[in-house]
Amino acid sequence: MLKIEDLHVYYGGIHALKGIHLEVPANKIVTLVGANGAGKSTTLRAISGLVPITRGKITFQGEEITKTKTVDIVKKGVTLVPEGRRIFANLTVLENLNMGAFARKDKEEIKKDIEKIYAMFPRLKEREWQAAGTLSGGEQQMLAIGRALMSRPTLLMMDEPSLGLAPLLVKEVFKIIRDIYQDGMTILLIEQNATAALQVADYGYVLETGNIVLEGPGKELAANDEVRKAYLGKA
Ligand code: ATP
Repeated sequence: MLKIEDLHVYYGGIHALKGIHLEVPANKIVTLVGANGAGKSTTLRAISGLVPITRGKITFQGEEITKTKTVDIVKKGVTLVPEGRRIFANLTVLENLNMGAFARKDKEEIKKDIEKIYAMFPRLKEREWQAAGTLSGGEQQMLAIGRALMSRPTLLMMDEPSLGLAPLLVKEVFKIIRDIYQDGMTILLIEQNATAALQVADYGYVLETGNIVLEGPGKELAANDEVRKAYLGKA
């Protein structure tokens, strides 16, 4: 569904991505793991058209999107749940969800989707009229995921959805990821929590200072000695 070939991204003099290749097949969860600063967020930002691409090619459903604008990429079905959630703090929960549907015009369907999101996250329903900035960290993460789903994505990209959450909530977020996947979504997931990410993923890539150094089925990578030493904190 998504194919990245020889992708290079620079921030001024910093060569953040050094020619990576990556594929996300339909109805799969693919994860990108790696240390701080390896280039994980940069990869998602490049796919979403949020950083300039120096070289390489990104194709989504057979169509090249390397130079496509962010809003058009969203319209084509690629949505990012950004790191740090970035919900609209002064807007209510409901207004945030409606913002996720900005590119849609099917009002009745939008209403139905909001009800679906509330069924998935009952805590958001209870807080429908609350300013999003006053939600707890876990609730904000649920809202960020719900808002992304409101665009009816074909490919959902998530940047560190478990970051800063208490262990119980981390479990809940991974359960939500599995539920969304079982509903038929294709997911590209970035995580520092490599153990959990590789367990849930069909396929994984290990990124190190802008290069993909290892790839394979999630469970195989989770069992790989090098990965375990470097990223899972296990000998
Ligand atoms: P983290 O988990 O810490 O977010 P990451 O793997 O997602 O790490 P990136 O955020 O993609 O890493 O960063 C890759 C490299 O690019 C890092 O060296 C970072 O300092 C650099 N970088 C990222 N954004 C910018 C920017 N806007 N300007 C300059 N350098 C940047």
